[in-house]
Amino acid sequence: MSQVQREAALKEELETVLGQCLERYRRIAFTCSFGGTSIVIAHAIAMSDMDIPVYFLDTGLLFAETLAARRRFEQRFGLRVIDVGPALSLSQQAERHGGELWLRDPDLCCALRKVEPMQRLLGGVDAWITGLRRDQSLTRGQVEAFEHHELEDGRTIAKVNPMAHWTRQDAWQYIQAHDLPYNILLDQGYRSIGCRTCTGPVATEDDERAGRWAGRAKTECGLHTFTRRLPEGG
Ligand code: SF4
Repeated sequence: MSQVQREAALKEELETVLGQCLERYRRIAFTCSFGGTSIVIAHAIAMSDMDIPVYFLDTGLLFAETLAARRRFEQRFGLRVIDVGPALSLSQQAERHGGELWLRDPDLCCALRKVEPMQRLLGGVDAWITGLRRDQSLTRGQVEAFEHHELEDGRTIAKVNPMAHWTRQDAWQYIQAHDLPYNILLDQGYRSIGCRTCTGPVATEDDERAGRWAGRAKTECGLHTFTRRLPEGG
């Protein structure tokens, strides 16, 4: 298969997965970080008549460049992006748990600023669309386009990953071909972008997520591990 054929097949698969998601589920949320390649999905939604709400999880600790990337995307494509945020402001978190919690207990910090708001969001949906790709890291190597996940309250939702089979290179070719406004930190050695307090640039040969919580064993914020993936047919 030539690269052109591959790009066309991946785009068709992405649009098919989004279409099937709309056919199967009523309450849907797509979460976009505006820090990486999930803007491909945001673009596909913006350029279609698919009524899929786009959510942005703002921890209050994001890079200014990420907020700027979100604004540029909204303005360019007329996309309405809905904010989701933690229950605690940064000062409330500091009062209850001490300042700079990310340095002392990043798991608790992620639980408060990322996982809790996401649990709240997912509590009201039947399907969650993400930009996960298999090639992002070893822990994401088994991602499927359609998965079923159990939430902590026992309810089951679909987790839909339309870019499961895309590589980073595929995504970049799409971003460049469509001249999408991307996060400029990606031109400065950052390859996966989260909170400014826990994200650094990485060498090109490193795992894409190596710049997250560098020097710690932590590799995931918990957003993609607090649900329990059910076996096929579960
Ligand atoms: S990535 Fe860092 S600052 Fe952001 S929520 Fe997690 S621990 Fe806190």
